Amino acid sequence: MSRVDVANVSKRYGNLPALHHVSISFLDGEFFGLLGPSGSGKTTLLRALAGFVEPDEGAISFDGERVDSVPVHKRAIGMVFQNYALFPHLTVSGNIAFGLSVRGVQGSEIERRVQEMLSLVRLVGLGARKPRELSGGQQQRVALARALITSPKVLLLDEPLGALDRRLRQAMQVELKDIQRETGVTTIFVTHDQEEALTLSDRIGIIDQGQLIQIGTPHDVYERPLTIFAAQFLGDANVFSGQRSGSAIILHDGTRIFASAPATSETVIVRPEKMLVFASGNAPDKFANRLSGKVLQAIYSGASVTYHISAPALAGEPLVVFLQNREGDVLASGASVTVAWSPDHTVPVKR
Ligand code: ADP
Repeated sequence: MSRVDVANVSKRYGNLPALHHVSISFLDGEFFGLLGPSGSGKTTLLRALAGFVEPDEGAISFDGERVDSVPVHKRAIGMVFQNYALFPHLTVSGNIAFGLSVRGVQGSEIERRVQEMLSLVRLVGLGARKPRELSGGQQQRVALARALITSPKVLLLDEPLGALDRRLRQAMQVELKDIQRETGVTTIFVTHDQEEALTLSDRIGIIDQGQLIQIGTPHDVYERPLTIFAAQFLGDANVFSGQRSGSAIILHDGTRIFASAPATSETVIVRPEKMLVFASGNAPDKFANRLSGKVLQAIYSGASVTYHISAPALAGEPLVVFLQNREGDVLASGASVTVAWSPDHTVPVKR
């Protein structure tokens, strides 16, 4: 177990800033998701932690000790790549044992540790197979066991489930989380999949164009995103812009959008599932926020309905509202409706 501190780390490739003054403290034993679009700098940060990339400035410390000049093989890290990178000519056990063999650990001790790892990753009995005789999910578990056998201080995972199909991926998410809990190893994983980051992480760091935008629990970053980018990267968001006035912002036509605290920004977002849709005139008074509109499209998905609604108060994009299908009724395209929500769900964001 280990605490990892990244302090003011920057890295440029030519003129391109891949990381720009990034600071994060990864807590002992936490499962941390680095989330961002392709090219945002996630892998560069992971590789800097591993020692494959040398930062231009800033410091990286494990348990308070600088590791900047410590080479990869002495950093006590375990790493798992998207493509597994297993040795094809070695058996499962041979792959898992690799890190101990090269350290000169004794045969009987290796055998004991390999059995422990096979059990940890639920592959007991498959030690004699070659990687090609395993499914994608099993190969990924071998890669995980190989990374964990040396009892690393930090486990680094680069899109670890990226090569698996959706169902296997979801099953492996649960397993990965269980294995991480069992070992308690500080784990930092990279993903561009927001659902995966929300499901697995104790905390998430959202990164865009080499800059860290926000760090928080999945709940924090989803419910209270700091920027429009963070809001939209983590899910759908209805964006409103206007003039600040107390706890409201005033749209171009004079409509007020109320928040529960004094507005700190000219822009606010509301998540689609926080809004309700009523046939015109039927919205209960208890909702301070109410907008009139017309249904443009109702997308029926069985358990839920997604509405696209045009509202004259908005100059731009239609509203998106996501409703559980409780009543079985679906409002038709063209229906006049009122969209309503509570000020608690109006979230100020920076542009
Ligand atoms: P991510 O993992 O979020 O997709 P990366 O960290 O791989 O992003 O890349 C960040 C930026 O740095 C990208 O624009 C990428 O093209 C660039 N980059 C990464 N590695 C190199 C390299 N070795 N040489 C030049 N540019 C690189």
